[in-house]
Amino acid sequence: MRLGIDLDGVVADFNKGWVDRYNAEFGASLSSEQITTWDAAADLTHFDDMSGFWRWAEGGDHASIFRNLETYPGAVDALGRLSRNHEVVIITTKPGWAVHDTFAWIAEHRIPTREVHMTDTKWRVPCDVYLDDAPHQILDIHRNRPEAVTCRFVRPWNAPVAGVRDIHDWDEFVSLVEGRFC
Ligand SMILES: [Mg+2]
Repeated sequence: MRLGIDLDGVVADFNKGWVDRYNAEFGASLSSEQITTWDAAADLTHFDDMSGFWRWAEGGDHASIFRNLETYPGAVDALGRLSRNHEVVIITTKPGWAVHDTFAWIAEHRIPTREVHMTDTKWRVPCDVYLDDAPHQILDIHRNRPEAVTCRFVRPWNAPVAGVRDIHDWDEFVSLVEGRFC
């Protein structure tokens, strides 16, 4: 089966990544637990809006925020297990400036995939199962791929959607895929 897997908020801890860098650079003491809404960065930081945040995240002369993210516990191991019987298809939304950092990150963490899509219209990439945390993506994928199993990785910034399967951790996702398709 083809498993469409999002990166940020699912495999890569984007929030911890930017909060750690922000605290170090600006002497702030934010915690990633404070992030409970989509686009929370605009409210929690000194940036006026999300475009200011994204300009900073691009990194200037340094690597972008996407180059040094940690993985969530168990994520890479679970993908390794799943990749024995299924195709792991990475589907992630990234600005143009983050493309090469994202490929470098995928290589560094040895994400078991042969197929990577960087797109905002994720549902156009055909898969049997999708796993995402972005509220608008969960809705969009479920609406446009009713034949697929759409999974919400439960996070403080998303909410249940009728017909979408809730996933709380990586073991639960592995059990769902293996129970259904093996
Ligand atoms: Mg995400």
